[in-house]
Amino acid sequence: MAETTTTTNDFSSEMMLSISSYMINQVEASTNSTLDSINNVDEPPTKKCKSITNDKPRLLEDRIGSILSCCICLDLSTLPIFQCVNGHLMCASCFNHLLADCKLKDEQTTCPNCRCEISKSNCTRNLAVEKTISELPIQCDYCLQTFLRSEIKMHQSQNCSDRPTVCDYALLGCNWNGPFHTLSSHLTICEYPAKNGLELIDTIRAQKHAHDEEKKCLETVVDLLSLNQIGVSDLILKPFRTDDFVAKLYFETSRFTALQYQWQVRARINDNIPHPHTTITRSLSYQLVLKSKITQTIDLKFFLLKGPHGDPTTLQIQPIIYHFEFNQNNTETEYLKLPITSQECNRMLSSSSISFRLLMVQLDKP
Ligand SMILES: [Zn+2]
Ligand SMILES: [Zn+2]
Ligand SMILES: [Zn+2]
Ligand SMILES: [Zn+2]
Repeated sequence: MAETTTTTNDFSSEMMLSISSYMINQVEASTNSTLDSINNVDEPPTKKCKSITNDKPRLLEDRIGSILSCCICLDLSTLPIFQCVNGHLMCASCFNHLLADCKLKDEQTTCPNCRCEISKSNCTRNLAVEKTISELPIQCDYCLQTFLRSEIKMHQSQNCSDRPTVCDYALLGCNWNGPFHTLSSHLTICEYPAKNGLELIDTIRAQKHAHDEEKKCLETVVDLLSLNQIGVSDLILKPFRTDDFVAKLYFETSRFTALQYQWQVRARINDNIPHPHTTITRSLSYQLVLKSKITQTIDLKFFLLKGPHGDPTTLQIQPIIYHFEFNQNNTETEYLKLPITSQECNRMLSSSSISFRLLMVQLDKP
């Protein structure tokens, strides 16, 4: 009778009829030979398949998809997939967010499904799931047609006729945008190719300005690197907690020597707002602290870069150069935002320590 119970999951009046006829068959079969009853047992699956086609049930790939989806965001992620010791699946983004949240709350991270402890060391990737997901179809965001996950990127960026497109003359300042298949009709009426130099000069000037700014930043970095007094320190930020009633998480490096002085870097999450774990966006800001006693001023430019010992998947950190004059009364800079995304920040938080490189350049007195 086990088969009967399974089949009743797909309710439909037709189904119920076929089940009751199956049950009658079973009663009849029980009086027949063993071979006959085996034949009867084989019968329900064929009936089930028949009624499934009438019912238009979910496709196999949809069912597999819901089994392989992340237990937190319920999405089928193209990111690495991790699993707890009991096999519950989490996408890398949710996994890191969860670890980061718990670190902020000073709690042990547990699997949202089974409450077992989870950490970077006891969770493993599940390559079979990752590969299976990459074989499952996905709908194009623009034309809503279905493609393989391995092809979707290419389709959406180059082949989809509904992909969002800007005008060919966007560089000249045309703000038109729309689906790719309407581009050709826009181009027939776009007025930008016919504009003269005088009309376009402002747009070009603005672009040049943006480009110059970028160049200036790079040139400054190169200039600084060629100066005499330069300190390169590879640092590790370790997590600590304050003694407050609600302990706050902060990060600190050990003291280090650079340019003949003692320094320390401190960092905090979301600028110490009371409950950082309740926010979706995360940011990390840092402060450079001079630990040596000084009598003269130190005119310093400094910036943070990705460290050589950090997580290799961490993206490049844009060098933002800060300038600060340290003196007897001014030994701490403000908290300066690290230019990383919220997701990067969670990834840094979820690892046991944060590694980066600090470049300091002491400016010569004029
Ligand atoms: Zn997820
Ligand atoms: Zn679990
Ligand atoms: Zn498409
Ligand atoms: Zn245009």
